[in-house]
Amino acid sequence: MKAFSFERARTPAEAAAAVAQRPEARFIAGGTNLLDLMKLQVEAPTHLVDVNPLGLDRIEAAEGGGLRIGALVRNADLASDARVRKDYAVLSRALLAGASGQLRNRATTAGNLLQRTRCPYFYDTAQACNKRQPGSGCSAIGGVTRSLALIGTSKACIASHPSDMAVAMRVLDAQVETVRPDGQMRRIPIADFHKLPGDTPHVEHTLAHGELITSVLLPPPLGGVQTYRKVRDRASYAFALVSVAAIVPRDGATRVAFGGVAPKPWRVEAAEAQLSLDVHGFFGRAFAGATPEHDNAFKLKLAERLLADVLHPAKA
Ligand code: SF4
Repeated sequence: MKAFSFERARTPAEAAAAVAQRPEARFIAGGTNLLDLMKLQVEAPTHLVDVNPLGLDRIEAAEGGGLRIGALVRNADLASDARVRKDYAVLSRALLAGASGQLRNRATTAGNLLQRTRCPYFYDTAQACNKRQPGSGCSAIGGVTRSLALIGTSKACIASHPSDMAVAMRVLDAQVETVRPDGQMRRIPIADFHKLPGDTPHVEHTLAHGELITSVLLPPPLGGVQTYRKVRDRASYAFALVSVAAIVPRDGATRVAFGGVAPKPWRVEAAEAQLSLDVHGFFGRAFAGATPEHDNAFKLKLAERLLADVLHPAKA
């Protein structure tokens, strides 16, 4: 690990300003991904700003009947919160499907959203990787792609997003709340938060350097039947090959988002009206333009079957 300096911020605005001042500075909270990246020298920040003292660790009722989740709420605490379990079951289930008990005790809400891909070539500094080193190429394309994405990808990068929590937040239409280095606050719909790789796979989200996530806002409860189903290579402590988050509300159209298949939680709202009539037709629209590799083409059939399995019991 390379040497770095360290400070503890006292307010969100102070933390944002401290990172903004240095191009190579990073926030640190749970550190469950960043410390691994630093040990492997995939990332080498020169300065860390600890945001753990900022008090952003509460889950509170929000205006309009929603729920505001502090950026530092630990994944385990969020999954077990009685309001989340009752009104946002898809989120609780997604969190419990992720990582291990120890990691969920440490990992935070904001860190979960910002965690980086587990593409094995990204973690191997001997391999070409446009995400780690822009313009260097992509060793994954034509390589071992079982865990990688097949839609929303580009010729520069086919990495998948690893979060389970973010898939549930996408189907719930959560919003990410931030403070910028100039003290301005903003709210970003989660649909717009993560970016597709295009020609710049190293740019993964819409945050400016130094912009700090302060909370995630959930809408008023949707009710209905909420499900999160994850298929992985082993029963726990593994990332999704494919996952499905589904809400069949009491009123309105069924909502579906997929994990493990794209560089961001994958949801195609325009096709959802078709779900109640024709799952196969919906799937064709949701995955139109998919470009699977040799090793991960199986995910298309797996995703469609998983969706059918999730929806039919939910509607019974
Ligand atoms: Fe890097 Fe993306 Fe290629 Fe993986 S798929 S090696 S993260 S550029």
